[in-house]
Amino acid sequence: MHSDTGACAVCGKTFPRASMRSVGDLTPSIRAVIVAEGHQLEPDALICRTDAARFRRRHLEELLQSERGALTRLDKVVLDSLQSGLPVAQEVGASEDEPRSFGEKAADALARFGGSWAFIIGFAVVLVGWMALNVTGLMFRAFDPYPFILLNLVLSSLAALQAPIIMMSQRRQEEKDRQRSENDYKVNLKAELEIRHLHDKIDLHLARQWERLATIQRLQVELLEDGRDSRG
Ligand SMILES: [Zn+2]
Repeated sequence: MHSDTGACAVCGKTFPRASMRSVGDLTPSIRAVIVAEGHQLEPDALICRTDAARFRRRHLEELLQSERGALTRLDKVVLDSLQSGLPVAQEVGASEDEPRSFGEKAADALARFGGSWAFIIGFAVVLVGWMALNVTGLMFRAFDPYPFILLNLVLSSLAALQAPIIMMSQRRQEEKDRQRSENDYKVNLKAELEIRHLHDKIDLHLARQWERLATIQRLQVELLEDGRDSRG
C-alpha cells in the first residue's frame, strides 16, 4: 500500500508520492471543478501537480468569467502565470527597457531640451538679440527690419518641427505608462486571486481542525464514561 509512487486520479500516470497532492487537501471549489469534469474522486486519491494546477486555473477562470463576463488578454496572462507558478511582473518589466532607436532617442532628447528653462532662456536671448540688432543696426546692416518677417518664418518653422517631435516623445511615454499600468493590473489581479485561494485553504484547515477537536472531545467523553461505568 505504501509505495513511493502513486497513480494520478485524473491522468492515470505514475509519479513519486512526494510530488503529488492529496485530493483531500484541495479546496472544495477546486474539487468541484474536477468532479464536474467527470472524474471519480476518492478522499485519499492523489493528483499530480500538473493536473492540480490545471484545475486550479479552470476554477479561477470560471470565477473571473462569472464576475465580469469575457476574459481579457491580461486576465489570461495572469491565469497562465498562476498555472505555471512564474512571476507575472517580470515578463513586462523586461520589455520596458527595450533598446530605443536613434530617432526615438533623439526625439526624447529634443523634447526634454524643448521643455527646459535652458531652452526658454536661450531662445529669449536669441529673440531679443535678433530684434535689437535689426532695430538698432549696430553691428551690421539690418537684414530683417521691423516687423521681422524673416524671424516670423524661422519661428513658425521651428514650431512646426517641434510639435511632431513632442508628440513622438509623448507617444512613447504613453506606451510606457500603459505597460506600467498593465503590469500593475496583472500583479494586483494575481495577488487578489492568490489571497482568495489562501482564504479557501485556511477555511478548509480550520474546518478540519474543528472536526478533529470534536472527535478528540467525543473520545475523551467516551473514555470518561467507560471509566465511571467500570468503577460503578
Ligand atoms: Zn495527472
